[in-house]
Amino acid sequence: MRTAVFPGSFDPFTVGHFDVLESALQLFDKVIIAVGYNSSKTGFFSPDTRVEIIRQATAHMDNVEVCTYTGLTIDLCHQLGVNNIIRGLRTTTDFEMESVIAQANKKMAPDVSTVFIPACQEYSFISSTVVRDILIHKGNAAQFLPKGVTIEKFLAERK
Ligand code: ADP
Repeated sequence: MRTAVFPGSFDPFTVGHFDVLESALQLFDKVIIAVGYNSSKTGFFSPDTRVEIIRQATAHMDNVEVCTYTGLTIDLCHQLGVNNIIRGLRTTTDFEMESVIAQANKKMAPDVSTVFIPACQEYSFISSTVVRDILIHKGNAAQFLPKGVTIEKFLAERK
């Protein structure tokens, strides 16, 4: 079974992330979405809430798992016995940053490869930062969130 890890902050998971996930599932039998967090930094949503949001978005997919992690993504890959990391690319800036990380990871863990998936044009401007800004200012972010996500419930739980 070909498995990949799709790591990210996912604060929150957006339609852009969902689109990358769908593309990844055409290449891999199973994708493990790994919510990375830094215990010294508080995010907008807690890591557990981010996982719950992703579970809602992927409830109809039986080949997707979700977990949290801290530390290096390559260490997580080794713990899970997975050899592929998925990252999405929106812009040339993403490419420049991501290729450096992928090269460092390859040097540290030659058995782990990074697979880049380009953003689809329709969603390439969408980021968790934009979605958070909309939510903070009480705007309607529904069109930027995957179907099935009850964001109002999670926003209410933050308070
Ligand atoms: P990180 O903090 O690790 O970059 P993000 O949650 O911001 O975490 O992003 C996770 C991955 O998803 C990254 O590879 C990022 O480039 C990609 N990504 C984010 N938004 C989009 C989008 N709209 N289309 C395609 N890929 C995206």
